[in-house]
Amino acid sequence: MNTSQLKTALEGEPKYRKKQVFEAIYKNLISDWSEATNLGKDLRLKLAECCDIKISAKLFSAKDGQTEKALITLADGLKIEAVLMKHSSEKAERRTVCVSSQAGCSLGCKFCATGQLGCKRNLTADEIVEQVLFFARQLNRVDEKITNIVFMGMGEPFLNYDNVLAAIRLMNDPEGMNIGARRFSISTVGMVPGIEKLAEEKLEVNLAISLHAADERLREKLIPTSKKFTVKKILKAVDDYMKKTNRKVMFEYVLLAGVNDHDEDAMTLAKIMTKKNYLVNLVRYNDTGVYRASSGNQIKKFKTILENAGVQVTQRFSFGSEINAACGQLALKN
Ligand code: SAH
Ligand code: SF4
Repeated sequence: MNTSQLKTALEGEPKYRKKQVFEAIYKNLISDWSEATNLGKDLRLKLAECCDIKISAKLFSAKDGQTEKALITLADGLKIEAVLMKHSSEKAERRTVCVSSQAGCSLGCKFCATGQLGCKRNLTADEIVEQVLFFARQLNRVDEKITNIVFMGMGEPFLNYDNVLAAIRLMNDPEGMNIGARRFSISTVGMVPGIEKLAEEKLEVNLAISLHAADERLREKLIPTSKKFTVKKILKAVDDYMKKTNRKVMFEYVLLAGVNDHDEDAMTLAKIMTKKNYLVNLVRYNDTGVYRASSGNQIKKFKTILENAGVQVTQRFSFGSEINAACGQLALKN
């Protein structure tokens, strides 16, 4: 879908008509212009001719019934992946879409399959929104809604800052999808300029930092951009962000057996995490053929060391590794 084509087609139409079209797409979640019954027949036919709203995707479903991956083909033939995760608890039914911000990623983190692809290009705001629309349309048919969006798919969101923010604002629009700002999470490998910029936005989205090592040398080995954006610089930017926005920040830590999961690693992490109101999210490594995941026992030990030091720790449940849909596995393999 291309909203600038749509804008051109609607030039000269009254404002209320444009609003009806916006609602048809983002609120009523039409998949075909014939479903836009709030519009006159002539306009529907005209739009059907010039503005294709079909999303070309192949769907993969995991046996757990909780995870689906969409392999989407963009207008120029490039492919990207987005994942829907369904989780239920006593408190809430969540329908989370994990979206890509770039086709591939240029940053080459050693544990991440996307990082081995290189980056083909940034996605447009429309292409980011389209990933959510695809699943929103599907859920709408069974009377369900998307509740959360995480920028944890392919790419580094802060290397495509403007389009990511434009996509969030579009999905946040009360006259469209109306997804609350607090339901968005941006995960960054620690691009300091992006963190600084986000601190200035009047937008209450969640920020997550992929830390994965507290020690500078170890982090440099895992994440090439660490040479430029050191742990020290990242923490400084995060502290400024927290001061300005009054929001908590989450640090993600993928546990790699024998690499960053020693007791000493936990202690080094605890030292920098206890001082502030930070959250640590321990993530199980999803196999990308490079490392081994830490054992359940070691994860428990790591967590206990952090907790005993007074750090707030959670553990991320992993979805969809059997269809290569889990964090770090999006590499267009299917
Ligand atoms: N580029 C951003 C967002 C996309 S990656 C970032 O790096 O934060 C989303 C998350 O998946 C990040 O926390 C990343 O570190 C994590 N990840 C990458 N490869 C992984 C793997 N093999 N197993 C588990 N998590 C992984
Ligand atoms: Fe890129 Fe994030 Fe993967 Fe690193 S972990 S290569 S920044 S997508």
